[in-house]
Amino acid sequence: MKVVLIGVGQAGGKVTQRLAEYDYDMGFGAVQGAMAVNTAEADLQNLDIDTMLVGRDRVKGHGVGGDNELGAEIMQDEATEVMDGLDAKLSTDAEAVVIVAGLGGGTGSGGAPALARELKRIHDIPVYVTGILPGRDEGAIYQANAGRSLKTVAREADSLLLIDNDAWRTAGESMEEGFAEINDNIAQRLGLLFASGEIDAVDEVAESVVDSSEIINTLRPGGMAVLGYASAAASEDAGENVNAITSTTRNALLTGTSVPNVVEAETGLLVVAGQPERISRKGVERARSWIEEETGSMQVRGGDFPLDSERIAALVLLGGVERSNRIDEFMQRAKEAHESKNDGRGEAKEAFLNEELDDLF
Ligand code: GDP
Repeated sequence: MKVVLIGVGQAGGKVTQRLAEYDYDMGFGAVQGAMAVNTAEADLQNLDIDTMLVGRDRVKGHGVGGDNELGAEIMQDEATEVMDGLDAKLSTDAEAVVIVAGLGGGTGSGGAPALARELKRIHDIPVYVTGILPGRDEGAIYQANAGRSLKTVAREADSLLLIDNDAWRTAGESMEEGFAEINDNIAQRLGLLFASGEIDAVDEVAESVVDSSEIINTLRPGGMAVLGYASAAASEDAGENVNAITSTTRNALLTGTSVPNVVEAETGLLVVAGQPERISRKGVERARSWIEEETGSMQVRGGDFPLDSERIAALVLLGGVERSNRIDEFMQRAKEAHESKNDGRGEAKEAFLNEELDDLF
């Protein structure tokens, strides 16, 4: 799937750059263009991709300091300039726009839903948001910001691919130490997903390839989506890899998803990557139907992706997952954080306990 990436805010810019680098290094050519937008000049200076500073009049290049309502306003005011900047990269080949943002901060948290709304008004191709959720140890303001942003993005974007900052990092590392690793993991996994729908990108023709439209159809239920990943050593003989493929797929779904404990989904897509001669058709089919049973979805697509590796990797994309316990738990945390943030203003606690989180706009 040919995509144009736009990173909003600090995390958005860093992850966008990693994704563009990964796609380039692997020679996939799925990423057609990448750009970063921020209200903080210093964060843009560290990036090698094209950048655009917004909100200069209001925050003078110093960022919005975690105020996501201001982040949303600035993006609403300057959406035309941002979209003009993006136009040069949006060739007729582009099949989707992917906005990337950390949902816990200010610029990305407020800017991503505002930009998604504007892009959808103008373009016919899908507009997806990859939204990064704060880890459990991050402060109350991050949780509250992310809760409101998540709700608003899920409403505005064609699909919100969620990544929990606790999901793809090694236990025991601090959040800061973990960022480089998390960003590498996001780049690899999302990069593989985009490339899997991009068969021109590879020399060998796989037996059953995934098409861009299958990724788009998997994301069609809207709401939220998650991505799972796992890999394992594989035998040179496809016939011996039936179990390797099914167990790798189980790991991708049960322990390797971008938001843990998501089990119910409306749609799914399984991509098995590896050397074509190592990929067992029977294994892919069994793993695909196992995902159907496990998620309760009747629409799980399956395919393979030729990759020159001695290992086999399973990538599982689930669409329409809003009913997950883990997301409910996160929304509860965000609600509590929002409530304590407002305590100081003397508002009745009960009112917040009974109230849902407000949309950002
Ligand atoms: P903004 O610049 O105002 O949009 O704020 P940030 O992008 O710094 O958003 C803060 C959120 O993003 C927090 O939840 C951080 O944990 C997370 N974050 C910041 N930098 C990174 C990063 O490099 N990688 C990841 N995965 N998350 C990050």
